[in-house]
Amino acid sequence: MKKYNFNAGPSMLPREVIENTAKQILDFNGSGLSLMEISHRAKDFQPVVDEAEALIKDLLDIPSGYSVIFLGGGASLQFMQIPANFLIKKAGYLNTGTWAKKAMKEAKQYGEVVEVASSADDNYTHLPKNFEIPADLDYLHICSNNTIYGTELRKDIDAPVPLIADMSSDIMSRPVDVSKYKAIYAGAQKNMSMAGVTVIIVKDDELGKAPRELPTMIDYRTHVEKGSMFNTPPVVPIYTLMETMRWVKANGGVEAMDRLAKQRAEIVYNEIDRNKLFRGTVAEEDRSVMNLCFVMNDEYKDLEKPFFDFATERGMVGIKGHRSVGGFRASCYNAQTIEGVNALVQAMKDFEAQH
Ligand SMILES: *Cc1c(COP(=O)(O)O)cnc(C)c1O
Repeated sequence: MKKYNFNAGPSMLPREVIENTAKQILDFNGSGLSLMEISHRAKDFQPVVDEAEALIKDLLDIPSGYSVIFLGGGASLQFMQIPANFLIKKAGYLNTGTWAKKAMKEAKQYGEVVEVASSADDNYTHLPKNFEIPADLDYLHICSNNTIYGTELRKDIDAPVPLIADMSSDIMSRPVDVSKYKAIYAGAQKNMSMAGVTVIIVKDDELGKAPRELPTMIDYRTHVEKGSMFNTPPVVPIYTLMETMRWVKANGGVEAMDRLAKQRAEIVYNEIDRNKLFRGTVAEEDRSVMNLCFVMNDEYKDLEKPFFDFATERGMVGIKGHRSVGGFRASCYNAQTIEGVNALVQAMKDFEAQH
């Protein structure tokens, strides 16, 4: 049976990306060696890193003066590496969910942290509104898409200070005004690659200003200076990332990804709003187009498990909501197809007809 992958991360990748990576794992560039067996310093691998970097710069239209680096440790390591490198005196954090809160916790080890606004009291069912941003912050940290709760900023907010963003779950899904940011980071396993590599975009002349000694591996300058080759980078995930970036470019770039994301989300949210069994969990104006969260309406609560089983039988994978929200979450990253969301919507309609 055909599977429709709605996993929140690691998540769906374009089939051709997987197939091309699989071929290189068997025989890298006709060398007779696997991509898994070669040195990261092999002359055939440097072009992979170079192309991945160039494609990210091209697709996001990154201005000069920024570097793109590939590290291990996930977005979670960035929660500490960002403040270690950029927190001089005081940083602001927008508390919009689990990941934003974790980032804020780590920053507190490095200086004063202001929670600029929070929607924690409402279980993060909307984004904070009408908050004031102090003008004396080193940076304002935002999580652009809240993977767990299904809210999304989807714009580069205007602030009197530079931004730093965790874009793990919506990078490459829309154009970004990178000039507003000191840094952008993303665990690649949601929208750019398989698990194992983190992409960090840093503004070069903001590095080296923090008033502390940094361990070599934590200092971004180490990796900028060595082109992500200070130590062994995650070779296969970087290769997959390069293939995915080629795919994004061949399919119209981030503008096309943005249009498609909105189209997919509209199809699913329209059904959530129409179908008597379901309701969305977040404020309409803050709905994410990447992670679409919904629950059973109160009078149909006992149908949650039956719907899950029904959808699973139809090939849906990964639609169970995060435990802190419950219900369902359909993650629709770049590789998600209109066919996939239509299959989900059809399952919702057919299930409704039975009840
Ligand atoms: C998944 C996710 C993370 C955690 O990423 P790891 O690579 O597992 O550390 C952080 N932030 C956001 C927004 C995420 O979606």
